[in-house]
Amino acid sequence: MRTIGLIGGMSWESSLEYYRLLNEGTKRRLGQSHSCPNIMYSVDFAAFEELQHAAAWGVMADEMVRIARILESAGAELLLICSNTMHKLAPDVEEALSIPVLHIADAAAQRAQELGLGTLGLLGTQFTMEQGFYRERLEGHGLTVRIPAKEQRRAVHAIIYHELIGGQLNPASRKELQHIIADLAAEGCSGVVLGCTEIPLLIQQEHSPIPVLNTTELHAGAALMRALA
Ligand code: GLU
Repeated sequence: MRTIGLIGGMSWESSLEYYRLLNEGTKRRLGQSHSCPNIMYSVDFAAFEELQHAAAWGVMADEMVRIARILESAGAELLLICSNTMHKLAPDVEEALSIPVLHIADAAAQRAQELGLGTLGLLGTQFTMEQGFYRERLEGHGLTVRIPAKEQRRAVHAIIYHELIGGQLNPASRKELQHIIADLAAEGCSGVVLGCTEIPLLIQQEHSPIPVLNTTELHAGAALMRALA
């Protein structure tokens, strides 16, 4: 089995999920004493949060490349960036490495296609919803992507940064996200991408009238397939 490298800590609340999913998936496939060979470099997210909001993407690109190279030289054979937002820098990381970087939006798109979902709502940070890097990746798979209205985008962003990355699971925020998903469904979305690795901590399938695509789970699943191939 190949060793998986993870750039984590973005936030650690969701990195824990990656760790659990990779190990549980390995156990399921190979038997109960098996676990997943992996190397995680977990950052102090506060610095990234500040740089993201200052639009200092160049500084973060250098840091991501530095970390990715450490993981590659430590023996990682494929790499995951454990944040949808930080996939804005996936091309920089990919270019600097000789191991594959598995893109989280590709994992979501693949599941959408398996489920026959053509039009997807996208929830995530404002960076993920509003900038092209994520939507265009989904659209490159032939999918149509819709995002919530401006006020709703602000609300989702605030829930992520003020609550979820700190591990706060607030029932009122779940209700708010459910409203937003219902609006996306009413606008013709047949599924919704939970395009932030912490949103699945608050929203599961039972909370949505349309299929939810849990990017944390799908990304970890794609990595396992690749690691075991
Ligand atoms: N984990 C989140 C994501 O998937 C948000 C935190 C971050 O900005 O990296 O986008």
